[in-house]
Amino acid sequence: MAEPPKPEKVELCVFCRRHAAEPAWRPFCSERCRLQDLARWADESYRVPAEAADQAEKVTDPDG
Ligand SMILES: [Zn+2]
Repeated sequence: MAEPPKPEKVELCVFCRRHAAEPAWRPFCSERCRLQDLARWADESYRVPAEAADQAEKVTDPDG
């Protein structure tokens, strides 16, 4: 009736999903994956607001 020991849960890198996450870079496996993930997000989140803000300013018509 003894339950088998639970295998240690390995937290996989959220970016590459291939390597175990390192405590120093959680939830990533390495600085490389962390930077790549951040860069990806930054690239996506930078564009939209930047363009929207730029257009929003130009939309305001001084002549009303
Ligand atoms: Zn990784």
